[in-house]
Amino acid sequence: MLVPQPHIAPFFPPHRTLMGPGPSDVYPSVLAAGAKPTLGHLDPLFVGMMDEVKTLLQYAFQTKNEMTLAVSAPGSAGMEACFVNLVEPGEKVIVCRNGVFGERMRQNVERIGAVAVLVDNEWGKPVDVSAVEAALQAHPDAKFLAFVHAETSTGARSDAKTLCALAKKSGLLTIVDAVTSLGGIELRVDEWGIDAIYSGSQKCLSCVPGLSPLSFSPAAVEKIKARKTPVQSWFLDQTLVMAYWGNASGAKRSYHHTAPVNALYALHEALRLLAIEGLENAWARHAAMHELLRDGLEKLGIEFVVDAEYRLPQLNAVHIPAGVDDAAVRSRLLADYNIEIGAGLGALAGKAWRIGLMGYAARRENIALLLNALSEVLG
Ligand code: PLP
Repeated sequence: MLVPQPHIAPFFPPHRTLMGPGPSDVYPSVLAAGAKPTLGHLDPLFVGMMDEVKTLLQYAFQTKNEMTLAVSAPGSAGMEACFVNLVEPGEKVIVCRNGVFGERMRQNVERIGAVAVLVDNEWGKPVDVSAVEAALQAHPDAKFLAFVHAETSTGARSDAKTLCALAKKSGLLTIVDAVTSLGGIELRVDEWGIDAIYSGSQKCLSCVPGLSPLSFSPAAVEKIKARKTPVQSWFLDQTLVMAYWGNASGAKRSYHHTAPVNALYALHEALRLLAIEGLENAWARHAAMHELLRDGLEKLGIEFVVDAEYRLPQLNAVHIPAGVDDAAVRSRLLADYNIEIGAGLGALAGKAWRIGLMGYAARRENIALLLNALSEVLG
């Protein structure tokens, strides 16, 4: 007996305006790139395109790191790749926790059998630099400092430049989450001395979800080479992955896993668009669109969770006005206006909305649409 044959209609997703915490609106030409004919993952033409993806990622990250690539999985896999490659059992990692994703870093560290020293911060605040300084002094044996540059759960931006400088002074390697920051706010991997960094394709790059750009500094690569134990994840072991993504010695690429070929076409196009716009212009556009949205929200009496100084332009966490039904408003925006905004996460669940202005979504017309819809829904 077979399981009965299902009769299912084709799926036709509507055109939504994605203004939540990600995925963001995908550029039309990025969607079109993903629909191009699939090539074999070792086809010389495809491999040539991967070289261009690497060059474009080095530009987006502002790095010369040879080990720069896109993990064939979402941002969570980029996070895990950083921790499992660099951190060995028993090693100490200072983990800054000011939202959901810092907490996930702790879980990664502890699953390795390493020790997480937590620097906790109130949600909605950036990582406290002086608390990190104190932790560095109290734990001279710590090997890593890990923090989230742009906390998507709260909309707070941390001072990555200062945190990395502090870590360097104490001889620690840094692991930085740039899932929401890459392409949206200033980020300079080499200049700031970041050792391991990962991002996501679906936020300010406005690419399809499912890829995680990642970059390791030469010092991080040395740390991996000096490991006493093999990386416990075969798939995420970057020394194996580099046999496919290519290395400086120009050795012939060999099969590691079947690359998500069409998603990589999409990433190539998204990164190309970022390079055409120019990083500084993209950062300025996100900042300008945030100001436009902020002015409109304030006119509606809606207040921000994060102090102006630390606000992420691409992730606007706002208090849900008193007496307003959180879920009902979000459902109406989706059903009647085709607009998605995000619910609060973790400590902010039920208390905040998260309005994304990421990549292609950071446009004047989207802001006008959302402000108009919100004013109608809130009556
Ligand atoms: N880190 C941050 C800051 C994020 O915002 C997210 C996703 O929203 C992740 C990590 C995990 O990325 P993904 O959902 O692509 O696995």
